[in-house]
Amino acid sequence: MRPVIGITCKTTDWWTGAGNGLGVGYISAIEHAGGIPILLPLIQDDSCIAESFSLLDGLLLPGGPDVDPLLYAEEPQPVMGQLDVSKDRVEMSLIPRALELDLPILGVCRGIQILNVAAGGTLCQDVSMSSSNVLKHRQEAPGSYATHAISIQDGSRLLEILGQSEMRVNSFHHQAVKEPASGFVISAVTQDGIIEGIESPHHSFVIGVQFHAELMWQSNSSVNNLFAAFVRAAKTYKQQESA
Ligand code: MN
Repeated sequence: MRPVIGITCKTTDWWTGAGNGLGVGYISAIEHAGGIPILLPLIQDDSCIAESFSLLDGLLLPGGPDVDPLLYAEEPQPVMGQLDVSKDRVEMSLIPRALELDLPILGVCRGIQILNVAAGGTLCQDVSMSSSNVLKHRQEAPGSYATHAISIQDGSRLLEILGQSEMRVNSFHHQAVKEPASGFVISAVTQDGIIEGIESPHHSFVIGVQFHAELMWQSNSSVNNLFAAFVRAAKTYKQQESA
């Protein structure tokens, strides 16, 4: 039986007001890696969110708008972008429970950011605030095209999975992890010091990456390995749960 990976939706309004949606890249990445992707809508009831864990073997936190800075005790700066408070609420409810259960978690772009905030860390509201020599992190090139390099830290789980200490990745973000949450370590950085990866060594599989892995797995075998490792961890979780 394949492991079930819950992927949180974001608020959309393509048609007639608010909807819940998700980019197909996440769905096909999980499907290709051997998992069953299921979309987690932005439901209201916290007890309903809690009970949904009985269905899940892994949690994928995808990209999306900015995280409300109130959640890390900061006032909003003028450089801050759009919020999705429904998504914030659902993910802030899901993540602490997932960490407690040692459910495998993969955070992508906004996903690394909300993972960090939910675990007690902070964000840089715009990369321009962190360094005067900041690189271009909002590329104007196709999603599968890698524009900047990242250095992957020795001893990290991410290095073990990606198999190389330097690689180029895509970049579509303007915020980033500032202070990693307690218990988390930095696993990747860019030349300008922006954090592009964090992970928890205290969990079976809790990894966040700032790049859009879901747009790169088809063209980059290392990124494909990231989804494969995540789904493998979810499979192990599922087997332990049913044992
Ligand atoms: Mn970047």
